[in-house]
Amino acid sequence: MITLTQYWMGRNVSNALELTPDIQREAAFTVILVNKILERMQQAKVPLELSPDTKSLVASGWRPPSVNARTPNAAVRSLHMKGQAVDLYDPDGALDEWLFSEQDGALRELGLWLEHPAATKNWAHLQTLPPRSGRRVFYP
Ligand SMILES: [Zn+2]
Repeated sequence: MITLTQYWMGRNVSNALELTPDIQREAAFTVILVNKILERMQQAKVPLELSPDTKSLVASGWRPPSVNARTPNAAVRSLHMKGQAVDLYDPDGALDEWLFSEQDGALRELGLWLEHPAATKNWAHLQTLPPRSGRRVFYP
């Protein structure tokens, strides 16, 4: 399970001026959906590990625009900025592997989209909005 506090990564305090009501609402929705899929992973015995950096399953949560701008390889229009995406810690690819196999299962049922595992080493990127391609699993 992840919490909204873990999702903010302290940036709701350090970057309070960049946090809008829209972002707060979207982040709360993201946390709910991600917890639903984490529950299914637990049922499927997918091994979940806490990130040594954040001490939670969240490898990267909310990125205020100023933070996103200095995040290496971050997309210019990253949904992390809008509270609509999260990176889960996935050091050995177990989450990505299971999520990839659930394109027509849990991902579709819950309304989540996955960045292609080939593009996300050590983490799994989930978002609550479809990419422009509309593909359930997509390349950024
Ligand atoms: Zn991401």
